[in-house]
Amino acid sequence: MVNDIAIARNDFPILKEVVNGQPLAYLDNAATTQKPQAVIDALVHYYQHDNANIHRGVYTLAERATEQYEAVRQQVATFINAASVAEIVFTRGTTTSLNWVAQTYAPTILQAGDEIVISIMEHHSNLVPWQQVAQRTGAKLRYVELTASGELDLAQYGDLLNARTKIVSLTHVSNVLGTINPIKKMTAMAHAVGATVVIDGAQATGHFPVDVQELDCDFYAFSGHKMYGPTGIGVLYGREALLTAMPPAEFGGEMINLVTRQKTDFKPAPAKFEAGTMPIAQVIGLGAAISYLQHLGWPAIIAQEQQLTAQAYQELTAITGVTVYGPTEPTRRSSVLSFNLQGLHPHDLATVLDMQGVAIRAGHHCAQPLMTDLGVSATARASFAFYNNQADLRQLVTAVQAAKEFFK
Ligand code: PLP
Repeated sequence: MVNDIAIARNDFPILKEVVNGQPLAYLDNAATTQKPQAVIDALVHYYQHDNANIHRGVYTLAERATEQYEAVRQQVATFINAASVAEIVFTRGTTTSLNWVAQTYAPTILQAGDEIVISIMEHHSNLVPWQQVAQRTGAKLRYVELTASGELDLAQYGDLLNARTKIVSLTHVSNVLGTINPIKKMTAMAHAVGATVVIDGAQATGHFPVDVQELDCDFYAFSGHKMYGPTGIGVLYGREALLTAMPPAEFGGEMINLVTRQKTDFKPAPAKFEAGTMPIAQVIGLGAAISYLQHLGWPAIIAQEQQLTAQAYQELTAITGVTVYGPTEPTRRSSVLSFNLQGLHPHDLATVLDMQGVAIRAGHHCAQPLMTDLGVSATARASFAFYNNQADLRQLVTAVQAAKEFFK
């Protein structure tokens, strides 16, 4: 298996890039992952052989494009174990998926005085939309806080939940701390008070299997580009009954049954959400990414990412002056490592690392309230994918050590 994973790195042409005279060590996978040749080929093949608009034409090319697009919907349903293909809506990405739920579904169930529960580790994509809907409806936004080890405080979460809690929206995996949240348990707790549960799966779907029926969540959002697929494509999973009740966020071509001068009758979900020409090539690319992941298999992916993350955690914390944030227990975290080097701003650290060919992220990671809680304005963040290897890890650790020596 390890051999297969090591060979799989060759499927990603960009990983052969030389940056500033050094081999590229791409460690910003939480921002976006690189694309395997199979995904690139699927995009090129579509444009070279099958490009046509979907759901409209009766000619061969249009039928081919439509068949491929709808086959990916089935593939996604199987990938996350949705009960029905009608529960899969294609969107532009996690941000769009979450915004649609907050902007169109939430107002149908929220009244002034109701409560929305999110956590303090949310990405702005799963925070700002809820702030907005709270302002519009008079609902109150309440936060699940962190424990000292960077996990969600389940006791405090339990205390927050009550009969006024209408929506609970949580990230599956923190894009800053790497924490894997106990979503199944938290969903059951939310359902016990009658709340609808929305999960931000942006940092989960490319790293371990997700089963929406097992989690029992009501909505689940994720992005193609964070799981080796193209940008511009994401998914909103929703229970069929909820998608039926949820109004469309956009209106236009192809999402209608009948339009008269006076009114419009929409198609059933998921079609009623997919107005206008959809990102067809990107959907097909997402299908190729899922096939690619399934070909590699989760055990090999998980083993490689866990091994690299645990080793990076150990080696970075061993450097005096380095603070690594988030859970210490390797099985409770995903492959995201946020850290700071004392005396050096993370942006400067990232710039110095770039000179060594190491691509990491520095900043607030679209999680400013979490930064405030951690008492920092920013962190450096290395995030691993299965295609990263020991050489990438060595380059990272050596470059951090060198930066420390240089700025001491
Ligand atoms: N949620 C989390 C936890 C993320 O890490 C991200 C992206 O970094 C998003 C949401 C937003 O994803 P996208 O930019 O693909 O919409």
